[in-house]
Amino acid sequence: MKTHTRVAVIGGGVVGASVLYHLAKAGWTDIVLIERDELTSGSTWHAAGGMHTLNGDPNVAKLQEYTIKLYREIEEASGQSCSIHITAGVDLAGTPERMDFLKLACARARYLGLDMEIISVDEAARIFPLMDKRHFVGALYNPLEGHVDPAGVTQAYTKAARKQGAEVYRFTRVTGLVPLPDGTWDVITDKGNLRAEHVVNAAGLWAREVGQMVGLDLPVLAMEHQYLVTGDMPEVTSSAKEVLHCIDFEGEIYMRQEGKGMLIGTYEKKGVPWAERSTPWDFTHELLPPDLERIAPSLEVGFRHFPALERAGIKRIVNGPFTFAPDGNPVVGPIRGLRNYWVAVGVMAGFSQGGGVGLALSNWIVHGDPGFDVWAMDVARFGDWATPAYTNAKVRENYSRRFRIRFPNEELPAARPLRMTPVYDRLKANGAVFGAAFGLEHALWFAPPGTEPREDVTYRRSNAHRYVGNECRAVRNAVGLLEISTFSRYEVSGAGATDWLDRVLAGRLPREGHLALSPMLNDNGRLIGDFTVANAGRNRYFVFGSGIAEEYHLRWFEAHLPPSGVALRSLRTAMLGMAIAGPKAREVLARVCRDDVGDAAVPFLSFRATEVAMVPAYVSRISFTGELGYEIWVPADCQLRLYEALVEAGAGFGLTAFGARALQSLRLEKSFGTWAREFRPIYTPTEAGLDRFVDLGKPGLIGGAAAKQARDAGPTRRLVTFVIDAGEADAIGDEPVWHDGKVVGWVTSGGFGHCVGKSIALGYVPAALSNASAGFEIEMLGERRPAAIATQPLYDAPGERMRRS
Ligand SMILES: Cc1cc2nc3c(=O)[nH]c(=O)nc-3n(C[C@H](O)[C@H](O)[C@H](O)COP(=O)(O)OP(=O)(O)OC[C@H]3O[C@@H](n4cnc5c(N)ncnc54)[C@H](O)[C@@H]3O)c2cc1C
Repeated sequence: MKTHTRVAVIGGGVVGASVLYHLAKAGWTDIVLIERDELTSGSTWHAAGGMHTLNGDPNVAKLQEYTIKLYREIEEASGQSCSIHITAGVDLAGTPERMDFLKLACARARYLGLDMEIISVDEAARIFPLMDKRHFVGALYNPLEGHVDPAGVTQAYTKAARKQGAEVYRFTRVTGLVPLPDGTWDVITDKGNLRAEHVVNAAGLWAREVGQMVGLDLPVLAMEHQYLVTGDMPEVTSSAKEVLHCIDFEGEIYMRQEGKGMLIGTYEKKGVPWAERSTPWDFTHELLPPDLERIAPSLEVGFRHFPALERAGIKRIVNGPFTFAPDGNPVVGPIRGLRNYWVAVGVMAGFSQGGGVGLALSNWIVHGDPGFDVWAMDVARFGDWATPAYTNAKVRENYSRRFRIRFPNEELPAARPLRMTPVYDRLKANGAVFGAAFGLEHALWFAPPGTEPREDVTYRRSNAHRYVGNECRAVRNAVGLLEISTFSRYEVSGAGATDWLDRVLAGRLPREGHLALSPMLNDNGRLIGDFTVANAGRNRYFVFGSGIAEEYHLRWFEAHLPPSGVALRSLRTAMLGMAIAGPKAREVLARVCRDDVGDAAVPFLSFRATEVAMVPAYVSRISFTGELGYEIWVPADCQLRLYEALVEAGAGFGLTAFGARALQSLRLEKSFGTWAREFRPIYTPTEAGLDRFVDLGKPGLIGGAAAKQARDAGPTRRLVTFVIDAGEADAIGDEPVWHDGKVVGWVTSGGFGHCVGKSIALGYVPAALSNASAGFEIEMLGERRPAAIATQPLYDAPGERMRRS
């Protein structure tokens, strides 16, 4: 064993092997992989090896395509066969809602350059004769589906890496990790120790244990998963070509050819976790006892839908565990507060996703950036609230719903309510229908008295539509009240605060008592945040951003803090807020604020420390609604008092509670972008239309030079606002944008603008087309709807209402 290495990858499953391969390919060849047993001895060896490109997140779907296309490359690089079978696949819909889901997936695939097609039941039955077409209404055809040999793939990755100089230590268990002051690690194993510049936790079924070695509770849990292999089937042996892969969503089963029979797997509703507390170290190349009873309901549907399967009989049953994250996507990246410790865990579809995960992580380690948009699988999408008990509830839910439809307006119930603010009960009593963001309950909309606070799930406008419309109009015509604790807030203070913020934030800092909007850039000059910065004076700032990105932003902030002179803290639990917005907002505030709130005293984009409702408060004169508005922040234990005072003061002014759905409609009318939608790490400020909020010439600005270079070269795409000639559905995000018969761009968010009476979408198109107002179509639910670019915001383009004096 070496005594020193650049990277020690812990885990010789398909994921660790892929990380090793990609690091070696990037030129980092002084690297090792440490495996406690034989390679593949976690989940990998008993996997069905199936692969496909279907994923709810388009960026993960793209990674799946990368993974599948990688297998030829690693075969060539290693000389090891992966036993690649690209059979193509049919995903069968039994209901119109499922057809909507497939149409959406197909449309999304189109803008990603993935080649899928909606086909009729007859066509599906022609290419997949095992199905009984009476149970289906249509299908999605995906040419890029198939399977590989799990052991072959793992060997191919490691052999190819070893050819470059990487070393693989089998039968060597990592028993401890000791951080050293210079950021390197002592890796303790049962065969001796070595010093590593970086360590990668790719320990699969033991990811939690390797996390606990450094004090981490990683949000992953293993579930038992069963597939069975049938006896020989004449329908298979007589088939001229290998039988296609198939997913039957109604039966919650997937299947593919295995020898002369079929392999059938299920994601049954009553899934069972495995090794809930800790994974035994002596579990190696083992299977779990089969439990046919548990999957019987799915099999019954399967036998009805595919009658030949029932006749074939069962030859073999495999029950094995593999790990999931609470939302089912991989958990990848650096950990906040731990230098040079990386995770590549919770990869539930190693043969669809392992290649992409390896590429992203190796880019991150070698270049400091994953190189593409990995938000959907970044470990930082979870915070400290994602405890093992939370993970347990969510993973079970996710497993049981793996083949169920997730509607765009659907909020999943497990592990809720988790985080609640003091006003939660009041909002609930007022009819709030809640969603959860970063674990926090927040109001989506309010059901008026006599209406059940429940939203029907749908791809079209829901029962909430008209109530949300009423909330929007109340904001535009009178005054609305919104809880804003879903925004993140940080305090930055100290002698070095101004210099530091000037370096990490791309905007100009506000002068004392004022606010400024500021994007944040990564080293490549791409957007990694959009904030409102408040200058409270005396080297003290408040920075407000997107709540779902708190861990992501704290990780970046902390990694870029100087050794001294700047204090940074999250105010998540210390400071909570309410916002009021609308033409009557000032009059409401005047009733509860100690100080003068006139325009001269509190002008647009000002920030004041004052007293509201008898409690100390900060008031920001700003609103994401585009109206005259104030965001009021108070100590957490005073939020309820603030809420009650505002409700009382607003009674005579038509104050109406509004939620996230109305806010979405109002911001779309103003063409305001938001994090994780319009602003993501693949866009430059110029592309996102944020040039006026950045000062790229600031000395030392992170990403400044790269963003300036991109701006000078001219953007390749631009963010635009569309008005869609929609039917009964609005865009939701990720729909393709067509122009002249070609897909040219994609939607980032969409919805109905209740106060302008139009269906609106924001999205990116090639820069050359961004001035062409007409000729666009947006594909929604399988239909291409005419769309036109709006050259200015649809509501109050000059922004007079929010500046209202
Ligand atoms: C029945 C079944 C069917 C499946 N079918 C499919 C499918 O069709 N398609 C698909 O894509 N996926 C499938 N999967 C999922 C797939 O198996 C996983 O996504 C994949 O194996 C995850 O790989 P991994 O490398 O993350 O973890 P693992 O395979 O668990 O590998 C982790 C490795 O780390 C080693 N290790 C752990 N701790 C230490 C330590 N301290 N020191 C040294 N070594 C350590 C372990 O020994 C192990 O070899 C299936 C899973 C099951 C159970």
